[in-house]
Amino acid sequence: MERLRKAEWIHYANSELDTYVKFVNEHIFPKFILAKRGFDFSPSRRSSRGGMYADGPGINIAMHHYCKNYTGERLIRVYEYKSFDSSSVIGGFYTKDKYQKLDMVLLHELAHAVQYYAYRINNTRCKPHGPIWKNIYKRLREEFLNPHLGDQVALKAEYDDDVASITKHRKSTMPVATKKELDALFARAASKI
Ligand SMILES: [Zn+2]
Repeated sequence: MERLRKAEWIHYANSELDTYVKFVNEHIFPKFILAKRGFDFSPSRRSSRGGMYADGPGINIAMHHYCKNYTGERLIRVYEYKSFDSSSVIGGFYTKDKYQKLDMVLLHELAHAVQYYAYRINNTRCKPHGPIWKNIYKRLREEFLNPHLGDQVALKAEYDDDVASITKHRKSTMPVATKKELDALFARAASKI
């Protein structure tokens, strides 16, 4: 990805994170600091992370995976972890907004960073996607992402239509492609005679 586009995505992610951290400070932990923000654009980096780093709570985001292929408006299905993907509050969704997939990942990983901070403050432990994390993630999703998601029923219907038309298109073009291939084969065979 070119440098300018990378810088734009990093600028976007940083300003979103500033807003999210402000909310955490005002409503959950007044002294929480996001000590590390990593943005990794290497194509091989597939998964993001949020948790405790040497300097304190932090995140490291697999940017390439979330920012690639955005050349125009596109309806996509964004997936969350399988065990809560179907949740209407913390699950996956349909969107045409090119930033909402990244928003979801930033909120998800920030929730992990806050979770580890909570462990330290409250001297407790919990599962990575357990009740403490879910509660933090839910509050962040309801504040910053869910109110901005489009009509999910309508978007799902449009998405299903797209999938159906791609499948139909594939079937209908198959005999044409086969005929073309046959013509090419016959032409090659004829030229050898
Ligand atoms: Zn997670």
